Amino acid sequence: MTIAQWSTREVQRKVHEYFQKADILLKDEEIQSIEVNDYGLGRLDEIGLQLFVYINTDRYCAKEWVLFPRQTCPEHLHPPVSENDSGKQETFRVKYGTVYLYVEGDPVEDPAALPPEKDQDHFTAFHEIILTAGDQYTIPPNTKHWFQAGETGAVTAEYSSTSTDDHDIFTHPDI
Ligand code: ZN
Repeated sequence: MTIAQWSTREVQRKVHEYFQKADILLKDEEIQSIEVNDYGLGRLDEIGLQLFVYINTDRYCAKEWVLFPRQTCPEHLHPPVSENDSGKQETFRVKYGTVYLYVEGDPVEDPAALPPEKDQDHFTAFHEIILTAGDQYTIPPNTKHWFQAGETGAVTAEYSSTSTDDHDIFTHPDI
């Protein structure tokens, strides 16, 4: 049985195990509000992201997310949303595992992570940043990015300006 066939509760329990590896404490009711996002593709093992949001206001946002081994968050960007808001800027700080992050810029010749084979046409950014526990990186607004965990999965803190998922633009036409 693949993760894509698990119930939300089962996925949340697995995500909690990863949070524990990173010494992140969540209360029982918080575990139940862990969000499981398969981006509507129904292939959670390959493409998805699991997250717990501490706070998201019109001023700032803090969350932690888990990627299962080799799971990929698909390519997207956070565009300007108004005259006074140039778009979401996000800082990732890895707490556990390795994250292969790709942003617009000089492409790496031999990427350490590859998108799922059937989705390869929908990934265009290949400037590689490899983050392990204790490393952080800030992605400017309006910049395409995607990321994948290494073999052990990954837990990452994300500090950002307001998260307005409705505005996000994905490269993949099915998302
Ligand atoms: Zn993003």
